[in-house]
Amino acid sequence: MSAIIQAFSFNGFQENTYVVSDGRDAVIIDPGCYIKEEQNMLKAYIEENALKVHAILFTHAHIDHILGAQFCFEHFTKNSFLHPLDVPTWEAVERYAAVYGFHAFVAAELPNNTLQDQQKLEFGKLAFQVYFTPGHAPGHVIFYHSDGFVINGDVLFKGSFGRVDLPGGDLQTLKNSIHNILFQLPEDTVVYCGHGPATTIGQEKYTNYILQF
Ligand SMILES: [Zn+2]
Repeated sequence: MSAIIQAFSFNGFQENTYVVSDGRDAVIIDPGCYIKEEQNMLKAYIEENALKVHAILFTHAHIDHILGAQFCFEHFTKNSFLHPLDVPTWEAVERYAAVYGFHAFVAAELPNNTLQDQQKLEFGKLAFQVYFTPGHAPGHVIFYHSDGFVINGDVLFKGSFGRVDLPGGDLQTLKNSIHNILFQLPEDTVVYCGHGPATTIGQEKYTNYILQF
C-alpha cells in the first residue's frame, strides 16, 4: 500500500490538519480542530477508516497548529512529538489564546517525545524522515515520506513562505532552511502546506517569492 494524505482546513486561521495513513496505521499532524464540528469531523474520519492513530506530530507549536492537541491526546493517543526548541512556543500559547479569540482553548501537556534533525520515525507501515527547518518558528521541523511528499507546516506555501515576525522567527534562517533542506528534495516532491493548497518542490524552486529576498 502507499500512504494516503487527508487534509482538513480547521479553525479561524484555516490551518491544514493532516491525517497520513498506510493501511490502518496513521498519524495526525498539526491538529488544529477547535470547535466541536471540527473535532467530530476528524474523529469520524479516523473511525470510518478504522485507523489506528500511532502518534500526534507537530511541525511547530503556533496556536493554529495545536488547538486540537488536547482533544487528540484524549481521544486518540498521548504519544506525541515536538522539537525541543519549540517548547517555549508551545508554552506561550496559553497566555495569548484569548487575545486571538480562542476563549475555549484548553492547554495540553507538552508532547512526550522530542524530535531532532535527521530522525527517522516509524509507526507500523508509516515512516517519515524529520528535517529541522527553523525560521518561521525556532523549533520547526518537516516530515518527509519516501512516497514523495513532505508535510512542511509553515515553511513553504504555494508561491509564498511562512511569516518571520513572530517570536523566534528570522528571515535569513528561514531562507537557509528553504534553500538547504526543502529545495534539496526531489523536484517532484509534493509539498503539503500548513495553509492553502499543496504544491511541488520543483514549482517553488523556480517561482517562490522567497527567491526575491
Ligand atoms: Zn505557524
